[in-house]
Amino acid sequence: MATYSFELYPPRNAAAELALYESLGQLVAAAPEFISVTYGASGSSGEASLGVLRHLLTTAVPPMAHLTCVGWTYSEATRVIREFLDAGLTSFLALRGDPPVGSVEGDDFLGDLKSAGELVQLIHRVQAERVPFSQESVPGFPSAKRLSSGKKVTIAVAAFPNGHPRSRSVEQDLDTLLAKEAAGANLAITQLFFHAEDYLRFTEQARAAGVTMRILPGVMPILSPERLQRMVDLTGERMPVELLARLSAAETPDARYAVGIEHATRLSNDLLDGGAPGLHLYTFNRHEAVLSVLRATGLTTTIDANKEQA
Ligand code: FAD
Repeated sequence: MATYSFELYPPRNAAAELALYESLGQLVAAAPEFISVTYGASGSSGEASLGVLRHLLTTAVPPMAHLTCVGWTYSEATRVIREFLDAGLTSFLALRGDPPVGSVEGDDFLGDLKSAGELVQLIHRVQAERVPFSQESVPGFPSAKRLSSGKKVTIAVAAFPNGHPRSRSVEQDLDTLLAKEAAGANLAITQLFFHAEDYLRFTEQARAAGVTMRILPGVMPILSPERLQRMVDLTGERMPVELLARLSAAETPDARYAVGIEHATRLSNDLLDGGAPGLHLYTFNRHEAVLSVLRATGLTTTIDANKEQA
């Protein structure tokens, strides 16, 4: 059965926080496999990310914490990983992170950890160094305790179907992914892309190279030409000219919404038909578009309560 999961980013102000928690209720009600929360490179959003993750820990949906390691010393990275584990998090998306804005070409921005693979190893090491056993209550015997082995962490990593912008070749991207799995990663989530063949070709190459972990395609419903341009600028993906033309030709927000949902639904169906194990949906902290796509693919029947009341 195909899975689905969502990505959020931490709110930047009180109004955004209010809007996020409204959407979060709808996203949680859709019962995804997990909800991941992004993390600003160099820890710039640490507290805000942890706030959303702590909230998710009170719901039925497991949270996944993104962590970046760019610019950190080993001891800083270790402290942050401990803080997240102490909060109760057992699922991470380990990332290297991008250079700070304004930094010059070269690897000077990197700290002690030079790649996401090294962060994967460090998370496993910090987890293993913690008390390997904890005490659990025994049902029916209030004063009795039994030892249970510590929980294993899930560690996801990023994958780039059309290549990381700094990568020199497809082989380098495949080697990096393989190295991250060898370091202990057990799930990959892809950068967004616009054509199902990009993902299907990449996963075939990854399997041939020896990657065995699940590779979830990242899917983003894009609802305006401006956002499409921003995403292309951010990711270095090639502009999907047909989608741009259709979004630009649509004259009202409703018409643009319909174009974006139709494109994301077609992409999702092609991915699932091609054998993708599920969908990881980038939400932009809103529930409407991703739930529309999931309903159109038949992966969920959750009704948007706001639309029901309207
Ligand atoms: P790595 O796996 O370490 O490597 C990235 C690429 O760089 C590889 O293709 C590799 O071939 C190449 N490379 C590695 N080492 C070298 C080297 N020494 N020389 C040349 N090339 C090299 N960023 C954030 O700041 N916060 C987030 O929350 C966040 N979430 C993300 C979620 C997803 C699903 C994805 C796909 C990306 C996310 N990013 C996030 C962006 C990510 O941090 C950047 O893409 C970053 O540039 C690379 O991170 P990585 O973990 O892929 O790095």
